[in-house]
Amino acid sequence: MANPWNDPEAQPFIRIQGVSKSFGDYVAVNKIDLDIYQGELFSLLGGSGCGKTTLLRMLAGFETPTEGKIFIDGVDMSSIPPYERPVNMMFQSYALFPHMSVEQNVAFGLKQDGVPKKEIAERVAAILDMVQMGKFASRKPHQLSGGQRQRVALARALVKEPKVLLLDEPLGALDKKLREKTQFELVNIQERIGITFIVVTHDQEEAMTMSTRMAVMNQGMIEQVGSPVEVYEYPATRFVGEFIGSANMFEGTVVEEATDHAVVRCPELDADIFINHATNLPPGAPVVAMVRPEKMKAQVEKPESQYNYVRGVVTEIAYLGDMSIYHVRLATGMVVQISQTNLRHTAEQRLTWDDEVYLTWHPGNCVVLAQ
Ligand code: ATP
Repeated sequence: MANPWNDPEAQPFIRIQGVSKSFGDYVAVNKIDLDIYQGELFSLLGGSGCGKTTLLRMLAGFETPTEGKIFIDGVDMSSIPPYERPVNMMFQSYALFPHMSVEQNVAFGLKQDGVPKKEIAERVAAILDMVQMGKFASRKPHQLSGGQRQRVALARALVKEPKVLLLDEPLGALDKKLREKTQFELVNIQERIGITFIVVTHDQEEAMTMSTRMAVMNQGMIEQVGSPVEVYEYPATRFVGEFIGSANMFEGTVVEEATDHAVVRCPELDADIFINHATNLPPGAPVVAMVRPEKMKAQVEKPESQYNYVRGVVTEIAYLGDMSIYHVRLATGMVVQISQTNLRHTAEQRLTWDDEVYLTWHPGNCVVLAQ
């Protein structure tokens, strides 16, 4: 599938234009511009209180923007009440009716809309099959597991065939294992029905696993919009680099800038950083250079290159089974994190405490961000 966000001709399905929301003098959402395309699974990701739920609630019509406009399918939503919007919201609590069976819960909205009985039965059966809850149709919510309740809530939201489904922390109530499994299920269901999902989450792994694209929010603003790979490999700001995954950040200055490379000097490091592309910043500009833990290699011998290394001592080791994380303390006292995949049962040269090592990285594996 071509990515519509890279196609200048493509029309966004949801257009958020200069939207702000204040509660008294507190600005929860601050002048957000965002386009979301049909069929996307788009995540709003950010820490607690960054405004992601408020933005979702404005899309649903439960909050009115203080400023700006929201268009869905080309229609200005300013005067459209929640129940007339082509969106449906799945709440974190799932809000299932406890006294109704699974089937009745899912049928409820269609009944309210006066859909004929026969059609209700067909649609409910089809959607319960899709979320693999057909055989539990007559159970009550308290007879279901957390994951099953989540799927019923999803079925109830989908049965009304909204053009957009808004999901607020959809997997928040599930334990880690089930969460991971359900992430894949949710993506599969979304791909099969092809409607646009907008998911609010504070869990970066969840956003990375599920999304076509994501917006990383901070203090009511969007710091970056991009695919999981773009956001992880090329964070636009220091906040994004630190929020998504682990990152070693070295503060420094640009000392050389050319069309095909740049050199950055950092007081923490023993050698200058060589980057195999331009930074578009002038010499003297203060920057922060980011190297992810898995992009660093440890070796005992001094590297031959005059660039991209630092010496340190291994101070901590965390063995996680599939991988190990090492903390390496530099001469300056800064602690750098590196990770290694445990490919063999016994690696020939496993690092151990107090080992003196040189950490190195490839010139393409350092991201330079303006300070
Ligand atoms: P969380 O992950 O904790 O739910 P969030 O990013 O979804 O966080 P929001 O619920 O959007 O955050 O809230 C953003 C900010 O706006 C918070 O500081 C919150 O206290 C404030 N806020 C939200 N709703 C209201 C309200 N009705 N009245 C006053 N302040 C509010």
